[in-house]
Amino acid sequence: MDIKKDEELSQELKKVARQKGTEAPFSGKYVHEKAAGTYKCSVCGNPLFSSEKKFDATVPGLQGWPSFDDAIPWSVEFRPDDSEGMQRTEVVCMQCKAHLGHVFEGAADAPSGKHYCINSVCLDLERK
Ligand SMILES: [Zn+2]
Repeated sequence: MDIKKDEELSQELKKVARQKGTEAPFSGKYVHEKAAGTYKCSVCGNPLFSSEKKFDATVPGLQGWPSFDDAIPWSVEFRPDDSEGMQRTEVVCMQCKAHLGHVFEGAADAPSGKHYCINSVCLDLERK
């Protein structure tokens, strides 16, 4: 396990992964990515999401970030998040506890009903 130190992270990654920020919608590099591979945590390299679980978000408010309908088993943790006047479920990397984004249950556009809304900056795609 090789977790990057805070001073090794880019400003943008530090803001999201360490301070629970959110990148601007449609600004991330993986929003429209279709390549096959494994999305790893950009802080520690933990494999988080398979490209097979990625889908195009159609629910307003959840569009503009990479969307997945499942995570790789035992790769992420969930935490209740009541910030910004909303009740949401935060998704963090199980290995380094980096903030990744949120998961929404019962989303109409997610095949499994679970819509993982993840910041591109937290992901590092290892192409097949
Ligand atoms: Zn991590």
